[in-house]
Amino acid sequence: MSTIFGKILSGEIPCHKVYEDEKVLAFLDINPLSRGHTLVIPKEPAETLDQLSDESAAALGRVLPRICRAVMAVTGTREYNVLENNGPGAHQVVRHVHFHIIPKPDRDQGLGIGWPARQIDADAADLAAKLRAAVASGT
Ligand code: AMP
Repeated sequence: MSTIFGKILSGEIPCHKVYEDEKVLAFLDINPLSRGHTLVIPKEPAETLDQLSDESAAALGRVLPRICRAVMAVTGTREYNVLENNGPGAHQVVRHVHFHIIPKPDRDQGLGIGWPARQIDADAADLAAKLRAAVASGT
């Protein structure tokens, strides 16, 4: 199913392009949380990060820091958030993987986050072991 970002990739609708290579496109968010709010997307039409190929993930990882540096340099901001939502319950609206780069120029602009931290669970060692096994098996 094509998303609004699929339409941007196909050229069906325009964007304010920031960066493009064979596997990645970056463009300004149309409803920014702060000036310079940029979206970085793979050209591969994966819906969530866990569905993305290693090749696209590597391509994104290679350019994300460079695009962050450009956004900070041009907006004159030193602090920022990188956000990637997966699933509607986790605030994902567009069903195509995208990383938000959101400058945080001051308290009132940029990303506001709730962070309901709690004590780590008593079975943390067991949980970490299960996670290590799952990562190793490529689950
Ligand atoms: P998310 O909630 O993580 O799915 O974020 C989707 C983001 O896409 C929002 O910040 C929107 O403002 C942005 N967005 C939606 N349509 C467009 C568009 N045509 N061009 C640029 N950004 C868009």
